[in-house]
Amino acid sequence: MKPDSDARLDTLSQQLGTHAVRQGSLAKYSMAGIGGPAELLVIAHDRETLIAAVLGARALELPLQVFGGLTNCLICDSGLPGVAVLNQVRGYRFEADYRLHAESGAIIAPIARVAVQRGLGGLTWAVGLPGTVGGMVVNNAGAFGGETSSNLVSAEVLSPEGLVVEVEPSWFEFEYRRTRLKSSVEGWVLLTAVFQLRPTELAHLQAKADEYTARRQRTQPPGRTLGSTFKNPPGDYAGRLIEAAGLKGRRIGGVVISNQHANFFVNEGYGTAADYQALICLAQSEVASQFGVRLEPEIEFFGMECTCGG
Ligand SMILES: Cc1cc2nc3c(=O)[nH]c(=O)nc-3n(C[C@H](O)[C@H](O)[C@H](O)COP(=O)(O)OP(=O)(O)OC[C@H]3O[C@@H](n4cnc5c(N)ncnc54)[C@H](O)[C@@H]3O)c2cc1C
Repeated sequence: MKPDSDARLDTLSQQLGTHAVRQGSLAKYSMAGIGGPAELLVIAHDRETLIAAVLGARALELPLQVFGGLTNCLICDSGLPGVAVLNQVRGYRFEADYRLHAESGAIIAPIARVAVQRGLGGLTWAVGLPGTVGGMVVNNAGAFGGETSSNLVSAEVLSPEGLVVEVEPSWFEFEYRRTRLKSSVEGWVLLTAVFQLRPTELAHLQAKADEYTARRQRTQPPGRTLGSTFKNPPGDYAGRLIEAAGLKGRRIGGVVISNQHANFFVNEGYGTAADYQALICLAQSEVASQFGVRLEPEIEFFGMECTCGG
């Protein structure tokens, strides 16, 4: 007979030693400061631990979720069953042919800044992008006209069967803020990504980086947020629609629709996932009834459904 889930979690916890903690807080690592505990939280600082955690959870038939910076995920208040792996495998290097080779847990913003300082264009749009290379690729993140898919040339993924496979960009099936890995139940894990950069005039790159940083500071609220709550609908902006619906500054519990940018919802310190979700439902229903537009969440929900209908 298969041991019960608690016994299997204990087994994996013992296998992973100090990297694993039972009932580990996800709110502590979430950019929004929201979310209950994971039954087993694993912090992977190296590739071996990342792979061991993923393969161990699969072998023990435990629910598994891999996260990067948790900058785009809403974790439910009661927490997550099974194993949550926080990928902090941070290494990266610039190669001779203007390529950037990055581990999936590397934090993208400082790397994009170093690329600018080296006179390498291609990722300048990402100088202020929160999160890791893994989340950026999985979400096909983008800003200021740039997008992850434009520069990715290859990647290494861990297959559901535990094989390390090198894949081409087309494998990801890139769409607007989405790839085949987003919200996928297939179980692929991104290990590394390679980006092609190009030599560019330093002054031009620095001016662009400064411009993008200033625009973020001007338009985006500081604090505990998951960034853009909704995708922009075709030909319009989610923030414009939410503002036009009169919802700027609207609060539910500890979460408020930012007065600076209506597509950003901010946890003012005591907010819950339920508050966040209730505001999402409110914005969706007001925008739908006033303008006939259905807003689709850009953030992802874990341990909870977006139950606002539609
Ligand atoms: C203030 C703010 C501003 C933002 N601005 C932008 C912006 O301009 N443009 C934009 O596109 N986004 C933006 N975002 C959203 C977010 O920063 C990006 O989507 C980011 O790339 C997510 O990275 P992450 O490491 O935090 O991913 P997470 O939130 O941890 O995860 C995102 C998804 O990727 C999966 N995932 C993560 N790593 C792996 C892996 N190694 N293997 C398999 N799956 C994995 C997770 O399971 C989840 O499905 C913003 C967010 C904030 C808070």
